[in-house]
Amino acid sequence: MPHPSVITRFAPSPSGRLHLGHAWSAVTGRDAGAAWKLRIEDLDPGRCRPEFVDGITEDLAWLGLDWDGPPLVQSARTALYADALDRLRAEGLVYACFCTRADIAASLTAPHGDAGGSYPGTCRALPDDPDRRATTPHCWRLDSGKALDRAGQPSWSEADGARFTARAGDIGDAILARKDAPSSYHLACVVDDADSGVTLVVRGADLRPSTPTQRLLQALLGLPEPTYLHHPLVLHDDGRRLAKRDRAPTLAAMRDAGVDGRALADRIRAGSLPLGFRLADA
Ligand code: GLU
Repeated sequence: MPHPSVITRFAPSPSGRLHLGHAWSAVTGRDAGAAWKLRIEDLDPGRCRPEFVDGITEDLAWLGLDWDGPPLVQSARTALYADALDRLRAEGLVYACFCTRADIAASLTAPHGDAGGSYPGTCRALPDDPDRRATTPHCWRLDSGKALDRAGQPSWSEADGARFTARAGDIGDAILARKDAPSSYHLACVVDDADSGVTLVVRGADLRPSTPTQRLLQALLGLPEPTYLHHPLVLHDDGRRLAKRDRAPTLAAMRDAGVDGRALADRIRAGSLPLGFRLADA
């Protein structure tokens, strides 16, 4: 039984149906928390669709997993992310970036947002130009140099007690908001984890590179430090990651094929996976 003070969360993006990797994450998070919150990360209007939100709740019910409280839907909370950005702006820790989409695409390092590591800093030293901002598409970037000077090198603990400190280069000038998405994954994630009282962030190891940036934002915004449990990813037996283009079986397809969702959740609890899948090496 988890300690009564442990609050975990499951934060899928409704950009497709859930697959076995999500099931692993959801069962792990549910069992690790006395309370388990559901958050719908639907800030990317180009990728997210309402029918996938229904798919998430159906799939969790099929696995026999109940979340606590109403699901938190990020698209309904953009004013809170704007407030957080305003606070950082008031402290001179963000700057408007006018680089073209092609420049920004070149600096994208992860599907969940720009860690900013490869952004050359072209706009960092520009004086603020409200007229240009009023007429030219732009995003807002964290001035990571100033932010690190303010908050120090971020560190965090994993659930097994290991303590990590971000290395130089782990944090770049991450995008925090852009014209077509009022908040980045990083900013919304830290605001919401704090608002939900999350004490243990359970998620796949593919999101570990996001942790230094998120810990830095937590320090700058005065938000509490959660512990992290980055679990190994579920892979096909041959080592391929589960991805739509690899025809990863969705939980919906497994249900249609007659699989018992509660039995699948129990199997995951026992640390095992259906034939054809395995966990990545830690
Ligand atoms: N929305 C992310 C995903 O679907 C998860 C973000 C997180 O757990 O921090 O992979």
